[in-house]
Amino acid sequence: MIIDIRNVNYIYNPNTPFEKKALNNINIQIDEGEFIGLIGHTGSGKSTLVQNLNGLIKPTSGDIIVDGINLTQKNANLKEVRQKVGLVFQYPEHQLFEETIYSDIAFGPKNLGLKDEEVDLRVKSAMENVGLDFESLKDRSPFELSGGQKRRVAIAGVIAMKPKVLILDEPTAGLDPAGRDEILGGIKRLYEKEKITIVLVSHSMEDIAKLVNRILVMDEGELVMDDIPKEVFKRASELKKIGLGVPQITDFMKQLKSKGFDVNDDVVTVEEAKEEIMKYLRRKEDV
Ligand code: ADP
Repeated sequence: MIIDIRNVNYIYNPNTPFEKKALNNINIQIDEGEFIGLIGHTGSGKSTLVQNLNGLIKPTSGDIIVDGINLTQKNANLKEVRQKVGLVFQYPEHQLFEETIYSDIAFGPKNLGLKDEEVDLRVKSAMENVGLDFESLKDRSPFELSGGQKRRVAIAGVIAMKPKVLILDEPTAGLDPAGRDEILGGIKRLYEKEKITIVLVSHSMEDIAKLVNRILVMDEGELVMDDIPKEVFKRASELKKIGLGVPQITDFMKQLKSKGFDVNDDVVTVEEAKEEIMKYLRRKEDV
């Protein structure tokens, strides 16, 4: 197990008129190598939860243990924790600040005190992982890039720290479809290559269905579902009640079925739907 969240509560501004309970008795255990999707309506507590995972904020009560380190203990080594858990915030490109792409990505690794050659290797490999060409881009200013490229530079800066756990909060928000595909493709490549643990916060059920092995659903500070995508998306009406949808393709198959077509509506990706429809057509030909 790499992350163990036990009985965690989080209250903003306790004992003031602005008191707000954002996490209510959360229990989650995550194994190394899992790819987790974290979903929930705005305000359900997703950002609060992920900020707790790298010690940026500390639970009001309960324990969070990451790779053996209990973050809730007073003397926890938060520097070590932040190296283990890389957090990519929403719109991370707003935090780019160096003159060149190279120095921006190298900033974290340099702070770790690594040798120049190691920093160099890490910058190269992080850029490769997010699909940015090292030679042609390294000396350019990050501010000359497109929105999607800037964001990839920011993500590369976190990847270059070689975290064991990578948390991405809405990494594709505000990008066009090509920009989204590039970011998601990079995340998928990284996962397949490095086998790190990933937590992806997203409003896109399509992205979640395509990528993750397990989905956590939050509602009003509580964890209300924790299961594989197929099982979570079967519960379409419950999800609807808490302001969430299912992938469009799942909805489409459910509608086909309700119109009398004998198809399995238990699908979450376009590929699976294609197979189901082909099976249905072949059965019809045989009759
Ligand atoms: P999500 O990421 O799912 O949108 P958040 O974790 O941002 O949810 O918010 C959970 C709840 O905590 C919301 O009711 C939100 O208004 C409240 N909240 C978030 N940040 C703060 C803060 N800094 N001060 C007070 N309340 C906050």
